Amino acid sequence: MMASPATPVLSESQLATLRRHGEERSAAAGDVLFKVGDERYPFMAIIEGEAAILDAAGHEIVRHGASGFLGEMNLISGQTVYLTAVVTQPMRYIAVDRDELRGLLFDDGPLSDLLLSTFMARREALQQHEGIGIEIVGPRSSEATRRMVEFVRRNRLPYTWRDSERSEDSAAATPIEGIDAQPLPLVRLPGGRELRNPSGGEVSRGLGIGLELAPREEVDLVVIGGGPAGLGAAVYGASEGLDTLVVEGTALGGQAGTSRRIENYLGFPAGISGSELTTRAVSQARKFNARTATPYRAIALEPGTDRHVVRLEDDHEVAARAVLLATGADYRRLPIAGLEEYEGVSVFYAAGPPEAQRCGATRVGVIGGGNSAAQAAIWLARGGALVTLMHRRADLRETMSDYLIVELERYGVAVRDRSEVAELHGEDGQLEAVTLRDGERLPFSFLFLFLGAAPCTEWLGDVLARDAKGFVITGADAGADGLLETSVPGIYAAGDVRSGSIKRCATAVGEGAMVVRFVHEHLSGVPA
Ligand code: NAP
Repeated sequence: MMASPATPVLSESQLATLRRHGEERSAAAGDVLFKVGDERYPFMAIIEGEAAILDAAGHEIVRHGASGFLGEMNLISGQTVYLTAVVTQPMRYIAVDRDELRGLLFDDGPLSDLLLSTFMARREALQQHEGIGIEIVGPRSSEATRRMVEFVRRNRLPYTWRDSERSEDSAAATPIEGIDAQPLPLVRLPGGRELRNPSGGEVSRGLGIGLELAPREEVDLVVIGGGPAGLGAAVYGASEGLDTLVVEGTALGGQAGTSRRIENYLGFPAGISGSELTTRAVSQARKFNARTATPYRAIALEPGTDRHVVRLEDDHEVAARAVLLATGADYRRLPIAGLEEYEGVSVFYAAGPPEAQRCGATRVGVIGGGNSAAQAAIWLARGGALVTLMHRRADLRETMSDYLIVELERYGVAVRDRSEVAELHGEDGQLEAVTLRDGERLPFSFLFLFLGAAPCTEWLGDVLARDAKGFVITGADAGADGLLETSVPGIYAAGDVRSGSIKRCATAVGEGAMVVRFVHEHLSGVPA
């Protein structure tokens, strides 16, 4: 049984509130309240009795009793159910329909804080528990398999990877027999449905996540990219009356969404994790009726007079009166031969709970001199890894915030200046050592790369002005009237994709909010 995730209790007055929004029901011992693969279930607050939560194989994970409640993140996001709940002692409970609960969460701050933080803690715990969620079967040598693993990881979906090339993973060998001729990976959804080498979109929609777009959508504002800038624009755009659609190619939350803890975001003195900030922002955007569609990748932008058209993969298009480019930037990779063999197995671009768990008591290298590298190094060291941070400059202070340099020392992270990795050594994707440019060989089982990012703007071609590095130029430099307007009227850029941006979560959100004012001016033809 895994350590119990958050099991807080509801107060009498919270139970009374829930009672007003739901219905009281009873269930006998042995009754199944919901099961793996179900499409939906209501929120359940227990008045008396007890229920056990089981994984797909029937192993018990945790029990909830009086004043406790059942549910995790999928109550908010609408995903397929990953667990089964069975009554162990006759129960009376309040069932609140998911849509009703969502409304209640907006009105009741303390209840919303309690439920959201518990749901998120439970989701984090699920992600570390083998045998829950999606099953991916495929060898590490298959690029499509590694891409699928990366996709589910970025989307924070609970998963188990059955790697048929890992000899100790006997469970993988069986299901893969006889399907060798079929395209890999095999993806098994909760409830048993199987997909062969599916796209990220097929998996998302198989799980009931995200919106299915019509072949042609017409909106006031289309936002390309669902990071802080895009979600900021969605909240302000939709709340100020614009029909707003956010299109995201990978996972909502962007780069900030993958951060373990954002320490300097205003209003969160204890810091906030990227996934919590994302969940809150997405719920807030949906509250105002902004729509989010993911994963849909934009492949072309065609400016028009009245409407601009954004073409998406799989023959979808969005015609919008205004477009916000908020695609941010992509993680930079290292130009080293054979790197892709290790990616997803022992080389990573994000350090979340699953990685920290795998890296405990091993030697880990973190490459990069920026704040992201520092945060990951500290997180991994706290998880029990022996961490060395390598960067190529003479002094970390040139590129890293002082408070993080202090923390690196506090958690015993070894720092190597002027160090660049030239070669990787290992077998079957499992790293064993690296050689530095000066010839020194260092033993590492895992490597984390935090090399900053390049803008995601190649798909724009020559449609609008970009700087030498590819970032989108806005304002006077682009010959535009508005601060955040690009060289094409009605098309805006905000956040990290914008040339000269500050690259902070707060500024991205702020720019997203500002754009909405400019869009209103553009649509009405009246400057503020
Ligand atoms: P970053 O600040 O751009 O740092 C990238 C690092 O990667 C630099 O040290 C860079 O070295 C190095 N690098 C790039 N290419 C390399 C290569 N081929 N080989 C070796 N090293 C290479 O990126 P980031 O850390 O992801 O941060 C992005 C932005 O978000 C920054 O503005 C950062 O301040 C912000 N952020 C803030 C916080 C916070 O405030 N708490 C947390 C995370 C991120 P060179 O400098 O030598 O090019």
